[in-house]
Amino acid sequence: MQAVVIHAPKDLRIDSFPDPAPGHGEVRVKIAAGGICGSDLHYYHHGGFGTVRIREPMALGHEIAGVIAAVGDSVSHLEPGMRVAVNPSQPCGTCVHCREGMRNQCLDMRFMGSAMRMPHVQGGFREHVTVAASQAIPIAEKLSLGEAAMAEPLAVCLHAGKQAGPLLGKRVLVTGCGPIGALMVIVARYGGAAEVVVTDIADAPLGVARKLGASLAVNTAIEASVLDPYRAGKGVFDVLFEASGNQVALRSAFDLVRPGAVIVQLGLGGEMTLPVNTIVTKELQLRGTFRFDPEFELALSLMGKGLIDVTPLITASLPFTSAVDAFELASDRSKSMKVQLTF
Ligand code: ZN
Repeated sequence: MQAVVIHAPKDLRIDSFPDPAPGHGEVRVKIAAGGICGSDLHYYHHGGFGTVRIREPMALGHEIAGVIAAVGDSVSHLEPGMRVAVNPSQPCGTCVHCREGMRNQCLDMRFMGSAMRMPHVQGGFREHVTVAASQAIPIAEKLSLGEAAMAEPLAVCLHAGKQAGPLLGKRVLVTGCGPIGALMVIVARYGGAAEVVVTDIADAPLGVARKLGASLAVNTAIEASVLDPYRAGKGVFDVLFEASGNQVALRSAFDLVRPGAVIVQLGLGGEMTLPVNTIVTKELQLRGTFRFDPEFELALSLMGKGLIDVTPLITASLPFTSAVDAFELASDRSKSMKVQLTF
């Protein structure tokens, strides 16, 4: 079988890859769709991010869905032909954080297509993956496998939404409108926000945000003054979802949020300098959010019932043999929101 493997920055190859038969409690999934994530792009362009670096060839990809091809011993609830989304996270289940119900904080997490551990955990951009049966989640009949492959980023955003607390009637600001920011618009709307304003410095993703129901989509590179009314008093937004990882975006939002506002930081931005006096005097609540746990199945359930529609985000699908073209396309924000590979 073949896989999309990163060897070094800008060295992405289609390699042959081992294809083990499913063992006890495992299933083999014939992959149909795989979404290219920002972290995949970091591996492609820079060989990693922060201190995480490619130290050996690694198949990329962790937003994947496909069809069960074979099941191992003692797997009774799945059978060949069933369509599934693959949950890329495999917490250990026994460490202190797993036991206290924070499995996304697992001390021994295995996450597909991640170079955090050595050896790296191989990713899902392959013709087949063999995973624990618990990672293969059956999907609704009406859901396409491309939509099912959006379960992972949607789960990230549902988890971020929970971090913010109730959104019903709230005024919400989303800074950064890549796939994660765009999905936050969907989650905020689904959560009952009264107003969802989204900012970015590129027009194309803001167009997608409008389709998704954003109340206002603002290009802060050319029309930042559109936000001036939101600075009234001490600021008006109850909740900020910061999805750009950009210090300028986060800092400029401090004037727009009201006293007591919740700021959920999704974007990984490395070291930032923050106006601590503003955080103190406006009694702002700065919260992190990382990965997801039960939200993966929630994402599939909401999409499967037609309560959330992610299809406007999927801007292109290319065969995995054209992975380099797909990665270049996904890197062009004037053309792409979510680019998926097909297998
Ligand atoms: Zn654990």
